[in-house]
Amino acid sequence: ADDLNNTDPQLFAAVVDEMVRQESHIELIASENYASPQVMAVQGSQLTNKYAEGYPGKRYYGGCEHVDVVERLAIERACMLFGADYANVQPHSGAQANAAAFMALVAPGDTILGMSLAHGGHLTHGAAPNVSGKHYNAVQYGLNPETGEIDYDEVLALAREHRPKLIIAGFSAYARVVNWRRFREIADEVGAWLMVDMAHVAGLVAARCYPSPLPHAHVVTTTTHKTLRGPRGGMILSASGDEELYKKLNGAVFPGQQGGPLMHVIAAKAVALREAMNEEFVRYQARVIDNARAMAGVFARRGFDLVSGGTDNHLFLVSLIRQGITGKEADAALGRANITVNKNAVPNDPRSPFVTSGLRIGTPAVTTRGFGQRECEELAEWICDILDTLAKGEESSNIEAWVRSRVAELCARYPVYGEPQGMTLS
Ligand code: PLP
Repeated sequence: ADDLNNTDPQLFAAVVDEMVRQESHIELIASENYASPQVMAVQGSQLTNKYAEGYPGKRYYGGCEHVDVVERLAIERACMLFGADYANVQPHSGAQANAAAFMALVAPGDTILGMSLAHGGHLTHGAAPNVSGKHYNAVQYGLNPETGEIDYDEVLALAREHRPKLIIAGFSAYARVVNWRRFREIADEVGAWLMVDMAHVAGLVAARCYPSPLPHAHVVTTTTHKTLRGPRGGMILSASGDEELYKKLNGAVFPGQQGGPLMHVIAAKAVALREAMNEEFVRYQARVIDNARAMAGVFARRGFDLVSGGTDNHLFLVSLIRQGITGKEADAALGRANITVNKNAVPNDPRSPFVTSGLRIGTPAVTTRGFGQRECEELAEWICDILDTLAKGEESSNIEAWVRSRVAELCARYPVYGEPQGMTLS
């Protein structure tokens, strides 16, 4: 009688609608994934009730003996998985992990050097509307417009010119391997800290499918919910051995940026970190890359330009400049076919960030639900069919309806959480 559908039918209906959307739509947003039922269950546990300001063994509240065990497990697992000797598992999000790392490493007004949002960096790497762009003197590097890859000579030239105290590597939309070592050499040359935000590739790094930044960066930040497939949240890691730095980082998270940690989320991080140690997780990450390459191959064969020409990771960027289609209209047409992607700026994009001339496509979520290369290639063909129709300026509703019915069949064949929708609300 006290089920949520009785006590709060309006909210219940919205949650059920979202469950159905996730089951019935193909998710190609590169930063999304489906957490395991165990990760979701522990997030819905009594741990949400507990205040635990401070760190294990040094709390400002009583009754923390069990959540201390939880947080220590999360820290140990994070260190083991990534070869770190320091982990802070308290950041509520990737943005807060980055804000805390900045607070520990630089002072307001100091110069920082990060990748621009328009070229694939994240908002928190120095973009003007973000705190990172407002409180620091943010200088930005970008991609070489010819190669679509990071131009390390440009990064070095900017570092020599502006003498940043902090260099940020890492990205939200970049399909290639980043040379972390080169970034560290540049940072060393100008006496800067190197922070790597590995949010997008953390799962690939954990599975050794992508080079680890831990041996090179002073500080590594990440989210836990993208390729890593945990709960929404952030972490800060380091293998620098610099105990002074670790104290500063802890102080910057709490009390610097946050109050009480979300112990239910930290428990879910611990569950996900343990899942990431399984062989199955390693095979999953390898499939994520195989699937991205398979999809990118179809786009290339069908005559679409890929930024940097292909992919080495879980995502790729399609430029629609030559086809004369906007990212916005492509995103909308695919959405009508129940395929979720996001519009994305491409190098030298003639259009505004709200319109763009590109799409970002990622395979972490579809790979979790079981798609292999065959399904991914089929899906890429459908997407190209829709984009071709838009490029010809033809009416696209018929092709969208046809793809929508194929999407429904494919989703039914590969349920995310199975029947009923994977969790009970009571
Ligand atoms: N860092 C990178 C590279 C990201 O791509 C993102 C999110 O997309 C973040 C940080 C921010 O994470 P959150 O949304 O958890 O604040």
